[in-house]
This record gives sequence, structure tokens and C-alpha cells, in this order.
Amino acid sequence: MTSNEALFARAQRVIPGGVNSPVRAFRAVGGTPRFIRRAQGAYLWDAEGSKYIDYIGSWGPMILGHGHPAVLEAVQKAAAEGFSFGAPTEREIELAEAIIALVPGVEQLRLVSSGTEAGMSAIRLARGATGRSKIVKFEGCYHGHADALLVKAGSGLATFGHPTSAGVPAEVVQHTLVLEYNNLARLDEAFASQGGEIACVMIEPIAGNMNFVRASVPFMTRLRELCTKHGALLVFDEVMTGFRVALGGAQSVYARLIPGFRPDMSVFGKVIGGGMPLAAFGGSKDVMSRLAPLGPVYQAGTLSGNPVATACGLATLREIARPGFFDALSATTRSLVAGLEAAARDAGVPFVGDSEGGMFGFFFTRSFDDGLPQNYGQVMATDKERFNRFFHAMLERGVYLAPALYEAGFVSAAHQAPDIEATLAAAREALAR
Ligand SMILES: *Cc1c(COP(=O)(O)O)cnc(C)c1O
Repeated sequence: MTSNEALFARAQRVIPGGVNSPVRAFRAVGGTPRFIRRAQGAYLWDAEGSKYIDYIGSWGPMILGHGHPAVLEAVQKAAAEGFSFGAPTEREIELAEAIIALVPGVEQLRLVSSGTEAGMSAIRLARGATGRSKIVKFEGCYHGHADALLVKAGSGLATFGHPTSAGVPAEVVQHTLVLEYNNLARLDEAFASQGGEIACVMIEPIAGNMNFVRASVPFMTRLRELCTKHGALLVFDEVMTGFRVALGGAQSVYARLIPGFRPDMSVFGKVIGGGMPLAAFGGSKDVMSRLAPLGPVYQAGTLSGNPVATACGLATLREIARPGFFDALSATTRSLVAGLEAAARDAGVPFVGDSEGGMFGFFFTRSFDDGLPQNYGQVMATDKERFNRFFHAMLERGVYLAPALYEAGFVSAAHQAPDIEATLAAAREALAR
């Protein structure tokens, strides 16, 4: 048997940092990443044969748990029929129809292979459709690693951002305005001074890349009003929340709270691929008709709408659309968060948690008076040392949480009451240390 340590050393010789996506390297929490051998249901097994209850679910896609029989069958059948044709297939239509049927704001969509690609293409389309250059994003929201989105807030009021990655020239982010999440005053100022130049505002409606932070209802209401008033497109990045927090995504959650609410464009990924590389962006027919081959906005992909990936996504959507699916998933997730809160309270540890559908977050706060963080600064001010200790204590006890305090967690339909109980028993021990 090969150890995780030996694999990590070997990986580092041929892959930068030993991983193909940075968070997997455990840099935020320290220690050796687990090299996963296989997964089934709610569980992962690493190279050393250790079993873990999986609360990452490939960062969201595995909403049915690993190796769901109906999905496996659909993928095996599709693979036998061909991996990729570079020509249209009926399954692409079926997947587009399925997504459009579930998300009222989307009339047409285009399939791509990653969330990064979808977000990048949505911005190009928003700029092409409005004839404007400026885009707005919020600190702590992640929309993939396109150059124009790798940006953090500048200093001073409503200044344009600075690149957060080497290799991104300042000129490339000069049209990207970065605002504080849930800050109404900054939003008003930005639109008052440059509303007529803003092509789109991109937002994670429930942010999952700064742990778990909801956009407040007043903030979302105002954002919708301002976009409409100034002719900017409101782009919901639902790569994480889509088909994860509810069958209709986060937009259905806000539509229940804000009458008539809907974004202008939506970006999806993760769950719609069911674990295969697949993502999409969509909106009204009017906006989508600006895309090539109909319109002047260019966008393309050799593997886009891949026949095996679409089979996986379709089978996944079919399962999660069954009556009662989200009620059961939400109840499991809520029982986990409530149990963690109770364990922390018993241990005398300041803690807050939240969840929606199959997505959750929790924070070790600095005091018992602190509520849920509302923005990136507040998330990063929570107790990182305690989180890191908790993460490792849970991992040692067979519970695999996201390896950084700024990541959300995910529950699948395969997680059953005994898994939640085992997790909470581990948490009680971990918190007592
Ligand atoms: C994961 C994620 C992305 C990027 O998707 P990739 O498939 O990793 O490129 C974009 N936006 C959000 C909100 C995400 O969570």
C-alpha cells in the first residue's frame, strides 16, 4: 500500500505543489492531503484504506452521493456509444430543456466544460450585449479564474481593483469594480457614479467561496433595482448554488422572498455535470442570441456538450427532481448544523452555522455575541486556528470537511442519520480538545 505522504512527495515532483487545483494541497490547514482511491455513497477511501464521511462531494457536484446506480448506468451506456463527436447530439437538447424547465429566468443556454469557462463567457456576452466594459464583482465571491475576475478591492471608495494573481496585467482588471458583499451604501455609490457604464454585476447569491454567506434580502432587492434602472445585467453565478440549495437554485430562494425576482443571466456548473466536466450559462433569448453563430459575441468549445458529461448531468437532474428530494436533503443538512451548534454550545465554544438545501457553513466566532458573518472581512476575522484544529481532529476521526475556513460544506442524499450521528460524535470529541 502506498501512503498519502509518499504519493504527495511523488506528485510534487511532476505536478506543481502536487495538486491540480490549489485548495487540495491543504496549505490553509497544513498537513498531508489525502489521495483518494475510490468513493461510494457518502464515503471516500484514501490510498491508505482510511474511510471518511465526505462533506466536500467534489465541491458540490456529488449531490446524490458517489456511484449512484442510475447515474452510473447512464454514464456507462453513453460511454459505450461514444466519448465525443464534435457534432450536436439530442442529449444536449434534453439537458438544456431540463435546466430551462427548472429555472424560470433561463430561456436559452449554452453548455461549456467548466464554471470558469461559463463565467468568463457570461461576462463577454454581457459586455457584448450592453456595449459597456465595466463589470462589478464582490469581495469573497469566486467566479472561476478568468483574468478579469482575479481581482481584489482597491483602496478608497469605489476604486477599481488590483489583480490577485501574478500574470494578470493591471490593465486587464481596470474595468472590474470590486465592492463589499452586503454593503448597500457602496453599491448605491458605485451605481450613482458609474451606473451607465456597468455591463453587468456578477454575484454568488449565497456565497460559497467565503464559507457560507447569504446576500441579505434588502441588498439583493436593491441590486435588482439598480441593475434594472441603469441597464446593467444581473448575473447570478449559481455554479455552486444551482440545483444544490434548491431545485430552482438560489434564484428560486430569492424569488420566494422578493416578489417577481429573477436575474438576467445565470451561470451553472458542478451539480449539472453530476461530477463530470460540464457547466452552462444562460439567460433571455434576446441576450443569448448575441452569441455566435447567431450574433457577434464569439464563444466555442471542442468538448462542449460532451455526450458522456451530458448523460451524467441529465441522470443527476432526473434524480434530484423527484418529489421530496430537497425536503429530505435540507432536513439532513439542518440536522448536521443544529447538531454542530449544540456540540459547540456544550463545549463552551463560540460558533454559528447556517445552511440551505444541501449546502452549509459554520464559523468559530470570536465571541458568543457574534452573529453570522456578512462579508469576506468578517469571515476572515473568525477563529482560523480553532478551525484548523477542528479540521484535523475531524479528519483523524474519519470526517472529511473542506480544508479551509473560507469554503462551504456539502451534504448528499446518500448521507443518512447514522452518518450525521457519527459526525456529531466526532465533533464532540474534537471540540473537547
Ligand atoms: C466552482 C465555482 C466556479 C468555477 O468552476 P470551475 O468548474 O472550477 O471552473 C465558479 N463560480 C462558483 C460560484 C464556483 O463555486
